[in-house]
Amino acid sequence: MSTISESELLAQVPDRMFIGGDWVESTSGRAIEVQDPATGLVIKTIADASVADGTRAMDAAAAAQADWAATPPRVRAEILRRAFDLLQERADEFALLMTLEMGKPLAEARGEVTYGGEFLRWFSEEAVRIGGQYGVNPEGTGRMLVTHLPVGPCFLITPWNFPLAMATRKVAPALAAGCTVVLKPAELTPLTTLYFAKLLEDAGLPKGVLNVITTSTSGEVSGPIIADPRLRKLSFTGSTPVGIRLLKQAADNVLRTSMELGGNAPFLVFEDADLDKAVDGAMLAKFRNIGQACTAANRFIVHASVAEDFAARVTARVRELKVGRGTEDGVTIGPLINEGAVSKADSLVRDAVSRGATVLTGGSAVDGAGTFFEPTVVTGVVPGSDILREEIFGPVLSIVTFTDEADAVTKANDTQYGLVSYAFTQDLARAQRLIESVQTGMIGINVGVVSNAAAPFGGVKQSGLGREGGAEGIMEYLETKYALTPSPGA
Ligand code: NAP
Repeated sequence: MSTISESELLAQVPDRMFIGGDWVESTSGRAIEVQDPATGLVIKTIADASVADGTRAMDAAAAAQADWAATPPRVRAEILRRAFDLLQERADEFALLMTLEMGKPLAEARGEVTYGGEFLRWFSEEAVRIGGQYGVNPEGTGRMLVTHLPVGPCFLITPWNFPLAMATRKVAPALAAGCTVVLKPAELTPLTTLYFAKLLEDAGLPKGVLNVITTSTSGEVSGPIIADPRLRKLSFTGSTPVGIRLLKQAADNVLRTSMELGGNAPFLVFEDADLDKAVDGAMLAKFRNIGQACTAANRFIVHASVAEDFAARVTARVRELKVGRGTEDGVTIGPLINEGAVSKADSLVRDAVSRGATVLTGGSAVDGAGTFFEPTVVTGVVPGSDILREEIFGPVLSIVTFTDEADAVTKANDTQYGLVSYAFTQDLARAQRLIESVQTGMIGINVGVVSNAAAPFGGVKQSGLGREGGAEGIMEYLETKYALTPSPGA
């Protein structure tokens, strides 16, 4: 348990941007007020980047690129490893900071520190394992060499829902690969990123390798960076509509891109499922992060023969959830990020009910300070309801039924998204069929969380392009280069 108070912690978080190894004021003359969504109060005021500040960050990343690429992999690895160790020392501080600016319960924020930290450790190990190939060409006349080189300066854009992990999942592989970075967190949760930049500075990262800009005008500031001919890579995590816009901008500069976009995860419960395990999995897959995860189960697709039992059991568990400020003991559901998120959850529930669904528990916004929504279960959801098509991004569990496996798979795939899916069944052959037939980049069989730094995270369809984590993660930041030499003595 950290002994640091909220005010002491907030006082030691930088309020300026990190550019070229210096903590700098913005030239915009504006400031960003960061709020605690549990109270609506401003907790810190920080720099608000102008277009010129963005260009300055790009200048610094470009200037540092050659030296960082030439830095021995072992040296890059050890900086990342030191960052991992420092994060363990500061774990309680990072956890509290995320709870303050984003709202998640403290225990979950600690979980994010563990998860986010693993990317630093994993990619410190991957930095020294960037391989290549050497071989004889089929004609026997030459030697073919394939090597992997850093892509070059990268622009990394992260969302508000996992303020630390979404940054480490991009920054760690970029740095491990030898790329320099401009990092832009969401306006709603910039403090964790600034504190993370300080940690990397303390870990000995050379000046200019990581640059952080915080801005309330993300489109205006990002445009010139994406158009800058020195930029070689754009990696984005956020919503699908913004991802599509950024892909179009990136096309003009023919940038390498990685896109981790929205989800609409199906959670399938078959008639042979262990329902206790399915309910445990459902609670994790739905209510972790207050339902505000791209991996959050969005549609519970349950066999008609067990739907009533499943709904009753899950409703009993949902009634035990405790809503409140994430810093309070025992709280399991914090606030949603803002009023817009509350209105969206409310309108999705209303639309489902207007078409015939039944609310088993919850269903409304919570009156008073902060942006809270009751943990909710809605059953009997009718096909065509908005709640089945859109990302809920809130603590609302919606149930529809299916009759056989083919029906379940059709319903699971009836979305433009394809990030993750979950399936509960005790039939191994069925599980194997689902792994192949459900159109998602990831699938959890009898588990409610799949994320792991050692695994390739990412989606298909409109959930994105590329993978983060695993052996694939570092390849997103490497170019493949092929060289041909004549055979020896030729
Ligand atoms: P968002 O509105 O798309 O914003 C994401 C980031 O993009 C923020 O930093 C935002 O900055 C920035 N941004 C917005 N418009 C921009 C523009 N025109 N140019 C450059 N940057 C721009 O998404 P969000 O509401 O923060 O996050 C929730 C979404 O992220 C959900 O759809 C969720 O599924 C998805 N997500 C996906 C994954 C994954 O791995 N697939 C992980 C987590 C979240 P400002 O906020 O400052 O405008």
